[in-house]
Amino acid sequence: MKIAIIGCTHAGIAAIKQILKYYPESEITVYERHAEISYLSCGTYLHLGGSVKNLDDVLYADPEDFIKQGVTMKMEHDVIRIDADEHTILAQDLKTKELVHDTYDKLIMATGSITAIPAITGVENTKVMLCKTCDQAHELYAAAQKCHQVTIIGGGYAGVELAEGYIKSGHQVTLIQRGPQILDEYTDPVIAKQIQNLLVKKGVKVLVNTTVTKLSDLSDEKLEITTTNGTYNSDMAVICPGVIPQSDLLNGQINLAKNGAIITDPYMGTSDPDIFAAGDNTEVHYNPTLSSAYIPLASHAVRQGTLAGINVLDKRLKSIGTQATTGMLLFDTTVACTGLTLAKAKAAHFEAGSAFYQGNYRPDFMPTTAKITIELVYDKNSRKILGAQLISDHEVSQSANTLSVVIQNENTIDELAFMDMLFSPNFDEPFNYLNLAAQVAVDQEGGYWRSN
Ligand SMILES: Cc1cc2nc3c(=O)[nH]c(=O)nc-3n(C[C@H](O)[C@H](O)[C@H](O)COP(=O)(O)OP(=O)(O)OC[C@H]3O[C@@H](n4cnc5c(N)ncnc54)[C@H](O)[C@@H]3O)c2cc1C
Repeated sequence: MKIAIIGCTHAGIAAIKQILKYYPESEITVYERHAEISYLSCGTYLHLGGSVKNLDDVLYADPEDFIKQGVTMKMEHDVIRIDADEHTILAQDLKTKELVHDTYDKLIMATGSITAIPAITGVENTKVMLCKTCDQAHELYAAAQKCHQVTIIGGGYAGVELAEGYIKSGHQVTLIQRGPQILDEYTDPVIAKQIQNLLVKKGVKVLVNTTVTKLSDLSDEKLEITTTNGTYNSDMAVICPGVIPQSDLLNGQINLAKNGAIITDPYMGTSDPDIFAAGDNTEVHYNPTLSSAYIPLASHAVRQGTLAGINVLDKRLKSIGTQATTGMLLFDTTVACTGLTLAKAKAAHFEAGSAFYQGNYRPDFMPTTAKITIELVYDKNSRKILGAQLISDHEVSQSANTLSVVIQNENTIDELAFMDMLFSPNFDEPFNYLNLAAQVAVDQEGGYWRSN
């Protein structure tokens, strides 16, 4: 069997590993536009902030290792056409410009996403940069050495993390967000405000309810940023908007969602039985709403790529869906989220409520402790947990993972209130803070549901 994989970042690499394990007799050919594989985009802010000394250290896979295992790695090859009926691929060698014709029995599309460039006048200015690929990370780092004022456009995860990176490298940072709060995909206003306050305390100028309308040269060195809330000068700007799925090669040949994401079955198969897809170019099955959603994350890409590799010759393992759990360490504060925010739960027509728990994560008699804030989102009718957001100077990311499982298993606030959690004064109170957050929700709903 001849298996072609297009795109070799997280989804593509995960697929190759499984094909080598489960189908060692198959012939694998990989097409990748870039010279390197496996760049983790989060490495960019970590490098800017000094936590990662060398950008190459962020790469976790080497094409040579796959070549040694018999994989044909067509690096710096851009696939420009796929004929799904004929099972053919046309690619261009970006070094020699030569065209390469190939065929496949099975194809895995791991082409990911590209940055959705907003339609702002002057966005093509050379002082305006992007932050997804390894090449872009090198450019950002080089530019940062010559600049002092940095403006970040977009207050999602990437923008907030970059703001931290630039503050740590001694830059003057402005973060511009169109809507009323930062991180609006993952947090509700209370937690978002805490994060915004932290950024401001660390020196970031945060502008919400502000839309950038124009980017223009003020001088050779300075960029003028015109917004709905005034005009600002900056040495450079970084755009951190969302991404869009790269599926153009199969447009009109397989079923795509409205936004262009490839529609897959739980095995990562597409409407063409010989084409699989994984990663940022596909949708996920989002358990909180029991529907498909476009939520591009590396954690999704590795799981979907793994499934595509396992299932490519034998559909044997289904996806169990996702809660889209995320986390970040912002300065010394952990922010972790899973499932729906209250706003999104209401938009999805749940009769949703949210409960806040605030307290110290472990007893005050311990040498140190830290405040923890949890917002638990739940369905008032079924009492099932729909989502949660946690923020603390204590490490709470694994609690978001626990809540992810709670949502996956459709547990209720009543069950979470009593769910078995360890106790030791080193770690928590006799009732863990997740139990306590659920108990707040139970009290809000007038007490426990009878269990008989
Ligand atoms: C700044 C930033 C920080 C992030 N941080 C996190 C994080 O902390 N946690 C998290 O879970 N997610 C994070 N993400 C999201 C994560 O980076 C993506 O979800 C992930 O990269 C998706 O992997 P992928 O393999 O599906 O696609 P991509 O990373 O987009 O890779 C697709 C690959 O396909 C290749 N390709 C595409 N078309 C062709 C073609 N025609 N021919 C040849 N090759 C082609 C591309 O060159 C690329 O290498 C972050 C994203 C950004 C931008």
